[in-house]
Amino acid sequence: MVTVKLKSLDEIVESLRRFNRVFIFGCQLGSARCKNGGLREAYRVAGYLELKGFKITGVKSPGGTCILDRLSSPERNLLKEAEESSDVILSLACGAGTQLIAENVSIPVKTGVTTLFIGAERDGRYFEEYCIACGDCVISSTGGICPVARCPKSLVNGPCGGAIAGKCEVDPNLSCIWFRIAQRMEQIGELPDLRKPVPPKDYSLSVYPRKLVLEE
Ligand code: SF4
Ligand code: SF4
Repeated sequence: MVTVKLKSLDEIVESLRRFNRVFIFGCQLGSARCKNGGLREAYRVAGYLELKGFKITGVKSPGGTCILDRLSSPERNLLKEAEESSDVILSLACGAGTQLIAENVSIPVKTGVTTLFIGAERDGRYFEEYCIACGDCVISSTGGICPVARCPKSLVNGPCGGAIAGKCEVDPNLSCIWFRIAQRMEQIGELPDLRKPVPPKDYSLSVYPRKLVLEE
């Protein structure tokens, strides 16, 4: 899941300083799951902005804010509603959703969140970075564990030699991910494969901006 973090309320107010009427988009997918930009947080931000003298013209979420059909369909055009009623849109969606809104309205769009990383959720309390969307996935040969996102050096033929007692030399609070990869590969009977070098990654596949075209 793409994770986001809500900006401070004062920073949000500062970005809206020259406007009066504000329409707020939350996102009920990733932002809501992170408890940092769903409708619940959108209403909380709206309350704060009203206290600061702004007029809130709407607080809505199309569900997934990075899906244009949901933002603007013949039956329910939230972008038009926002554009016609407001001076500015405040989006609590990730960077993709917020840019999609900005590309399709004529009024300014500000973000109320920072997009962090692709993470896995634990205990409903925190997220850990598991993937950097490198475009050339290697985890079939590393026991289903990603060394690109989870080793600070992104080593695909680790470990680096600096690991001490299974801990990472960059951050001793972390297990060296290559120790965990080895343990996992032993558990699933793939340890001998660890001796095979992983071919160099094709980093041309991670040059921005990328595009995914769906087959007809
Ligand atoms: S190898 Fe690349 S695509 Fe696969 S999980 Fe890691 S970062 Fe993501
Ligand atoms: S100790 Fe392990 S996880 Fe840390 S940088 Fe070296 S290979 Fe990567």
